[in-house]
Amino acid sequence: MVRAEGVHKSYGAAHILRGIDLEVQNGEVFCLVGPSGSGKSTFLRCINHLERIDGGRLSVDGQLVGYRQKGDKLYELKDSEVAAQRRDIGMVFQRFNLFPHMTALTNVMEAPIQVKGESKAVARERAERLLDRVGLRDRMGNYPSQLSGGQQQRVAIARALAMQPKLMLFDEPTSALDPELVGDVLDVMRRLAEDGMTMIVVTHEMGFAREVGDNLVFMDGGVVVESGHPRDVLTNPQHDRTKAFLSKVL
Ligand code: ATP
Ligand code: MG
Repeated sequence: MVRAEGVHKSYGAAHILRGIDLEVQNGEVFCLVGPSGSGKSTFLRCINHLERIDGGRLSVDGQLVGYRQKGDKLYELKDSEVAAQRRDIGMVFQRFNLFPHMTALTNVMEAPIQVKGESKAVARERAERLLDRVGLRDRMGNYPSQLSGGQQQRVAIARALAMQPKLMLFDEPTSALDPELVGDVLDVMRRLAEDGMTMIVVTHEMGFAREVGDNLVFMDGGVVVESGHPRDVLTNPQHDRTKAFLSKVL
């Protein structure tokens, strides 16, 4: 589903991603961990072309992100084509970023109506189903300010799913939550994984990574230091940098 080959990204003189190689299979839960500043968010942002890579190749579902290849040459996609690529990728951030003046239900209905031109009736039916699925059947009429952080984050997940993405990116979705609210959000993510969604999850929740993850990559300094099955990497890390990091978060 996602293939990165030697992906580089700099901000000015700061060389952040220094040759990322990885592959995410369909239906896989791919956990990305690493210290602050290692480039995890930057890499996620490259996947949906919120940032443009400076070198290497990055593709989603067999399509180069932001480019079309003809022969040996790469051509930049038009804005409308980039938007079309992005539509298939759902993203959930640390901060929920819901529209404050809209209810949970209308937050979830908004993008399919505005971006896909879906009818209100169809968008509403799916939104209700998704909010039910994330355990918020009784909260559909609430505004974000009337919801807990965990509930808001579940609305944000439902909102991303409303676009029927083929890939979901999660950037520390639980790290802004009070500890007692984390479990409900992780449960929603676990069920999404069971339903076969392909997910890349940046997280410090090692319990989630161990139980739900199919693959875990440890990143540091803009490179993949080591990767493997979460159980193996977490119980038997090979590199000193991985060991040092895990000793702080486990
Ligand atoms: P954290 O765990 O703290 O979220 P991260 O692994 O997600 O860290 P990034 O947010 O990808 O790290 O940032 C990697 C580096 O790139 C940091 O040094 C950061 O300051 C820098 N950086 C990120 N975004 C920008 C930007 N838009 N302009 C300049 N520098 C940036
Ligand atoms: Mg980050």
